[in-house]
Amino acid sequence: MENNSYDVVIIGGGPGGYAAALYAARAGLSALVLEKFSPGGQMATTDVVENYPGFADGVNGFELGMQMKQGAERFGVKTKLSEVKSVELALESKVIRTAKETFEAKTVVLAMGAFPRELGLPNERELRGRGVSYCATCDGMFYKGKTVVIVGGGNTAVADAIFLAKICEKVYVVHRRDELRASKTYMEALEKAENMEFVWSAEVVEIEAGELVTGVKVKSRKDDKVTEIPCDGVFVAVGNVPNTELLKGQVDLDEAGYVLADETTQTNLPGVFAVGDLRKKPLRQIVTAVADGAVASKFAEEYIDHCL
Ligand code: NAP
Repeated sequence: MENNSYDVVIIGGGPGGYAAALYAARAGLSALVLEKFSPGGQMATTDVVENYPGFADGVNGFELGMQMKQGAERFGVKTKLSEVKSVELALESKVIRTAKETFEAKTVVLAMGAFPRELGLPNERELRGRGVSYCATCDGMFYKGKTVVIVGGGNTAVADAIFLAKICEKVYVVHRRDELRASKTYMEALEKAENMEFVWSAEVVEIEAGELVTGVKVKSRKDDKVTEIPCDGVFVAVGNVPNTELLKGQVDLDEAGYVLADETTQTNLPGVFAVGDLRKKPLRQIVTAVADGAVASKFAEEYIDHCL
């Protein structure tokens, strides 16, 4: 029978999760990664990652995720593609349940990341896959030669806009303020994109659709004027929500749902660590997730050696 007890169970196979797994395995700990879909997390939906050191020409996010997985598995890390349904983390021997299996762990690394925030419009969910998307890299090709609207003003919105401007005939970026939150490094590419138009200080108040999306209604935040933008697709890029529902009532979270962890990535529960985008932190990037993962494994090892 398979042994379902591990030194470290890592929930989430993004960069933070696989960095934790790699460091754990190299320290001689048995490590299991439980991942819901595919390795890489949100990074896997990024076409070109240009700010992860070591890749002079950038690297595809999905490819980088696969490399991180294989790099960890080379040292004995196991991966199971399975969604975690419940956890009991306050116990000395922590329990992690998926639909079919139960695992026990001396330590747990929480690395579930975040998922895209919705606009909250009434028909938004039913139009997902029929013109509404949260991932330009995944769905952009469906809109080749067409018109799309991107909502948001952060790095994701701007990176998506640059990517889609190469594929689509016309790209509108609707942002609720009159300046971008996105980093200045994107400016040159934005200026070059002649088929891109910004709609400032405006919010999407309605998605118009028959079977498929046909347009959006946009309301100015300055004079309340509503205008219509005919389009084939709406890409929502208005930030993320931490994937921490599972942890409520066990692990301390802030008011927005992010896990509170200290500099060692330790949460309020002994032996439970939090890495990457699901924790409260000043900069959510691949490099900071990876750094968290290394730190978490170091302190998981110390916890096993000195506290159990
Ligand atoms: P973000 O930085 O939180 O930006 C979200 C954007 O959506 C903001 O412009 C915000 O407006 C707007 N917004 C939020 N709620 C909204 C709503 N209900 N309706 C309309 N607009 C709304 O999120 P992100 O761009 O997804 O980035 C997430 C993290 O990943 C960030 O840390 C980012 O730096 C990182 N990231 C980095 C890269 C890169 O370095 N290349 C690429 C992608 C993502 P306000 O500006 O008015 O708040």
